[in-house]
Amino acid sequence: MPKAGIVTVVGKPNVGKSTLLNRIVGQKLSITSPKPQSTRDRIVGINSTGEAQMVILDTPGLLNPRYPLQQAMRQTALRALDDADVIVYLADATEGTPPPLNVAAELPSLPRAPIVTVLNKSDAVPTARREMTPTDAGVMYVSALTGDGIPELMQRIAQELPDSPFLYPEDEISTQPVRFFVAELVRETVLEQLHDEVPYSVAVQVEEYREERSPLYIRAVIYVERDSQKAIIIGSKGAQIRRLGEAARKKIESFVGSKVYLDLWVKVLANWRKNPGSLSRFGYQPVTGKSK
Ligand code: GDP
Ligand code: MG
Repeated sequence: MPKAGIVTVVGKPNVGKSTLLNRIVGQKLSITSPKPQSTRDRIVGINSTGEAQMVILDTPGLLNPRYPLQQAMRQTALRALDDADVIVYLADATEGTPPPLNVAAELPSLPRAPIVTVLNKSDAVPTARREMTPTDAGVMYVSALTGDGIPELMQRIAQELPDSPFLYPEDEISTQPVRFFVAELVRETVLEQLHDEVPYSVAVQVEEYREERSPLYIRAVIYVERDSQKAIIIGSKGAQIRRLGEAARKKIESFVGSKVYLDLWVKVLANWRKNPGSLSRFGYQPVTGKSK
């Protein structure tokens, strides 16, 4: 009997969840950024090797809810925990051994799925120090960046998966539509080029995606919260948005594997992060009523 199931990667912001997902799936799916909180959606990647298939969820960081966007992120992460067959609890090895997941995430009880605790960024820890840390509790060291320890981690996850036929066709790497990733690549580019000026106020929506045209035609809108942010994104005589468009187009071209015409727009949607309607429009699940 083959093994298959849902693997939820969970951990604090910036511990390397997106990098690990990209490493496991073998293609750039989840955006990575030196700034925390860049992942705000449940991204599903799929790895099928031999007798095991892992459907992987990349959760947003389990944060203390402070404003609606972060509450929505927390709810999404908690749901991903409920759905999991295996939980990969990722922590930063340079910060030592993490507290148990239920403590770190303030969970009322332990999740039902087995938890594999993984210390990432092993490349940034001296080997001597690593050997002193007891690993008998099943804690694994990996480097999502270099790939060190990843085959062992994959084996361990496969062991923990339930017996099940594959859940998706073997050659599929993701269940998310391509335009979702296109929007993510545009948002990543904005964060890279303008992170200090427009932190977390950016959402991107692909409003038109025409495969029958050559080059492939994509119209995407960058949403910001204030006129001043719109002005920054456009830049003097449109110089900034041209720079954004060019860099984003190159990433999209290498992702979709063809020439792309990227038609990039900026719109102001005041306070979208505080507005449940806007949050769900951009794919976040706003928190309504009692929180879990
Ligand atoms: P996330 O917020 O948990 O999704 O973290 P990211 O995957 O976006 O990574 C956050 C930062 O840590 C980025 O700058 C990554 O390049 C870096 N990073 C991720 N994995 C490793 C690793 O194994 N070693 C080192 N040295 N850095 C890493
Ligand atoms: Mg991430």
